[in-house]
Amino acid sequence: MGDIIQLLPDHVANQIAAGEVVQRPASVVKELLENAIDAKANTIKLIVKDGGKALIQIVDDGTGMTATDARLSFERHATSKIRKAEDLFDLDTKGFRGEALASIAAIAHVDMQTKPAETELGTHLKIEGSKVTSQEVAAVPKGTSIAVKNLFFNIPARRNFLKSNQVELRHITDEFHRVALAHPSIAFHFYNNGSELFNLPKANYRQRIVHIFGAKTNQKLVPVSEDTQVVKVSGFINKPEFSKKSRGEQFFFVNNRFIKSPYLHHAVVAAFEGLIRPDTYPGYFLYLEVDPGSIDINIHPTKTEVKFDDEHTLYAILRSTIKHGLGQFNVIPALDFEQDRNLDTPYAYKDKAASLPGVTVDAGFNPFQEVAQGKGTSTSNRYKSSFGSQSTSKSWDSLYVGLESDLESSEGFSSMKFESDLGTGSIFDGKHEAEESHATTFQLKRKYIVTTIKSGMVVIDQSRAHQRVLYEKFLKNITIKEAVSQQLLFPLVLSFSKSDMRMLKDIKDSLATTGFVFGKLEEEQIEITGVPLLVAESEVGMVLDQLISDCQMEVSADSFSQTDLLAKTLAKTLSVKTGEALDPSSQLALVNDLFACKETQVSPFNKPVYITITENDIDKRFI
Ligand code: ADP
Ligand code: MG
Repeated sequence: MGDIIQLLPDHVANQIAAGEVVQRPASVVKELLENAIDAKANTIKLIVKDGGKALIQIVDDGTGMTATDARLSFERHATSKIRKAEDLFDLDTKGFRGEALASIAAIAHVDMQTKPAETELGTHLKIEGSKVTSQEVAAVPKGTSIAVKNLFFNIPARRNFLKSNQVELRHITDEFHRVALAHPSIAFHFYNNGSELFNLPKANYRQRIVHIFGAKTNQKLVPVSEDTQVVKVSGFINKPEFSKKSRGEQFFFVNNRFIKSPYLHHAVVAAFEGLIRPDTYPGYFLYLEVDPGSIDINIHPTKTEVKFDDEHTLYAILRSTIKHGLGQFNVIPALDFEQDRNLDTPYAYKDKAASLPGVTVDAGFNPFQEVAQGKGTSTSNRYKSSFGSQSTSKSWDSLYVGLESDLESSEGFSSMKFESDLGTGSIFDGKHEAEESHATTFQLKRKYIVTTIKSGMVVIDQSRAHQRVLYEKFLKNITIKEAVSQQLLFPLVLSFSKSDMRMLKDIKDSLATTGFVFGKLEEEQIEITGVPLLVAESEVGMVLDQLISDCQMEVSADSFSQTDLLAKTLAKTLSVKTGEALDPSSQLALVNDLFACKETQVSPFNKPVYITITENDIDKRFI
């Protein structure tokens, strides 16, 4: 018997490979989108006709290719992304093994135009079933446009196997979502049969989710984040009440690549246990970042399955991250202004009180303790508070309301939190108390305010403390709609770009609740007739600029995030800064206002506001 083994011709090998890489139009979309991303495109356009059966075109403004590269890119195992086998394990591009273009060209009519930035003219290449039918020099824009027509034209069995246009479009849309969600910094356009399905501007992760799934999504999202040595987790989970009967909005991304992982999915579901009905599924958009060397993306040709080195640890981290996110969210409903508009305090203390026993003695420093306990002297008169009409002791009082109902006796509470108060009835060191009032604070390096407490001293970051005070004040004003505004003698007219004006229009109503009063609104101008009490006329422009830019970074369609964002921005912009000198009475007022806040330990941006140094700490340094 003679030799019977033959090498398969390339076009046959390519067709076979194509079976693996290209199952349906959506696979082509995925490969081409990923190539455009690897080419560092800023804007990517996807054009589809008849569910991708007639046309799939992807236009990018990325690096483009030289004429030689354009030709080579259609060869099998032709890739610019890996040079040696080990590279496969350290891939930070979407590339696989240089098979996609070769496979696609084997089973379709491909028309490619491409040009790198450096050259004046580009290349126009046509390939049908792996055969180049024409190659020309052409005047084309920078970047690459690849049109794939008549998919499976030469494999009728596969073409017949395709589903209806709607079903194929559905698959393409799913693929598009996955890629677009993983790359919010790239703008995407998606057209089907001539009509625009998606227009996604460059955005952040939250905005991208909302742009894709609609404005209503915003209120469903709860952010989660965790940073460990093994993995960095960020993203969003849907609030439990929005869990769905059908699967759907469930996305895992590892190093910005969509993956499927039943194991990690289980970790998420486990975290939701008890919070959702057993027959429903939680929604999530989770972004995991791991060392590329610790995963194997390439175990599956379509690259949606990943093998992790340390799956068990990942499972545990993910589960606890989600649980933590859900736990934090439980506090949030009280901040939802739709629900609690009529309450006179914007915060619910019930949840916070539960954690108080863990707080150390000094953390509860409270200059108004005497007054609150009703056995004090008249010391509170010394302090001038900036908390508007409400006296400081009153606002401090209100802090006890929730606590007392939660803890059996207020005495138990005092002894737990304000141990220092039990003996003398004064939180300040007795000696200082007897001395002059301004002796209780001083400013250090125009940055910190230092004050003494019974057990030692407190060092307060002045800027963060003021941020906290302003934040709570604005939040309260906005919530109870009680902001006081100062009428301007002459209306202020400020100019903004059209897009900034659009943003201003969106947040105008919320801004009004902080005390801004708006007059005429034109296309690129806004008239302001009143400003919040705390804002100087000269600061208005700066405040609005900051607001617009902060809002552009955040989606703030619903009341909670928008109000919170407004309060944060106003607090950040208007707070006392590091480097500002404060006179003794301002120092004292700031200290008092801070400790009258509902939350004293962290700034609105989650940074520590003060530290305490106990006598013990100091003693130790003298040994
Ligand atoms: P891979 O992505 O695995 O490298 P492909 O067959 O998808 O394999 O692409 C082959 C090569 O063609 C890529 O490595 C890249 O150099 C080039 N290429 C493909 N698409 C583009 C594009 N849109 N812009 C620039 N270069 C591209
Ligand atoms: Mg590729």
